[in-house]
Amino acid sequence: MAETQVLGGCLCGRVRFRIELPTLFCGHCHCSMCRRNHGASHVTWFAVPEAQLTIEAGEQDLTRYVSSPHGSRSFCGQCGSSLFCVTAAHPGQVDIPLANMDGPIDRAPQLHFFFDDRAPWAFVEDGLPRLGGESGMEPIDSPGE
Ligand SMILES: [Zn+2]
Ligand SMILES: [Zn+2]
Repeated sequence: MAETQVLGGCLCGRVRFRIELPTLFCGHCHCSMCRRNHGASHVTWFAVPEAQLTIEAGEQDLTRYVSSPHGSRSFCGQCGSSLFCVTAAHPGQVDIPLANMDGPIDRAPQLHFFFDDRAPWAFVEDGLPRLGGESGMEPIDSPGE
């Protein structure tokens, strides 16, 4: 029988959580906020309905940073690992960095979004669709790439 749950956590291990499959989405975000928050060229997020996320340990260590009028990002107050992102654009669901999971989820990354905001030093040649524009999720031209 296939696994229906995947565990995850922060770097120091204080915050531990469990997600219930199936996930809703998985993609690489190239927006400048993700870049700064995670210190990386892009962040690979997947999403689940809020009810499919259970915090098993360290709820008191989770610190919520209101990163914009539309959303917040939670991180471990002990080690600083960035964990959960919620936005008004997708009410009732939570975005979770794939890199913080202990094992594989039920899908591979499907696309790039906010691709036109990407770092100029980030090169992507994986053939996945590239979305951008105002919402970050509109088709864009990527001439000459
Ligand atoms: Zn931690
Ligand atoms: Zn982003």
